[in-house]
Amino acid sequence: MDILIATNNRDKIREIKRVFVLPEVVWHTLDEFPNSPVVVEDGNTLFENALKKAYMVAEFAGLPTIADDTGLEVDALNGQPGVFSARFAGENATYAQNVTKLLEVMQTVPDSQRQAHFRCVAVYYRPDLTLSEEGRIDGIILRQSRGKGGFGYDPVFFLPEIGRTFAEMDLSEKNLISHRGQAFARLAQKLKLAGKFESNPN
Ligand code: IMP
Repeated sequence: MDILIATNNRDKIREIKRVFVLPEVVWHTLDEFPNSPVVVEDGNTLFENALKKAYMVAEFAGLPTIADDTGLEVDALNGQPGVFSARFAGENATYAQNVTKLLEVMQTVPDSQRQAHFRCVAVYYRPDLTLSEEGRIDGIILRQSRGKGGFGYDPVFFLPEIGRTFAEMDLSEKNLISHRGQAFARLAQKLKLAGKFESNPN
């Protein structure tokens, strides 16, 4: 089964490949399609953006495609940065710049009100089948970074039950509980089930 991952984000690719487990997957990445369209993420929801990425890349490449869109939603910021998570500190902001901006705008938020969650919407698209799944994980935004693993906002995203940030976990630990891990593990199951119905409609 051929599957193209519609992202240039190496961190995401590493996580997705480990958790989207199906027999006989032949992985493809955008490196094989250097002229694939640049997808403008202008949707109002994570689902709209994820579907747009999967659809546009699949149409261009002619391969079944998976994509995700992820947002960090902070309670004290009324759900921001949300769909703007990648560009919270401006267009082309680095992970570090986004984290710095987040800590700045949350400086006056007391410890008791620093709840946040990641939401990830994962989509599988091919012309005859569209599937999607969502994952969510709740945590707390720290006042300073902790840990060297992960990416993005991981160093300030603290999981109280575990007592560590995502950046203090290895990849398998993060994938087991994370928003992306949940979304893609479920998506793989859904695709497997869809395949069973297709090969045995009765
Ligand atoms: P995207 O729009 O789905 O590519 O992701 C938006 C932004 O959210 C990324 O640029 C990262 O800064 C952040 N992000 C996405 N996934 C994660 C994650 O698993 N951990 C921490 N930050 C993430």
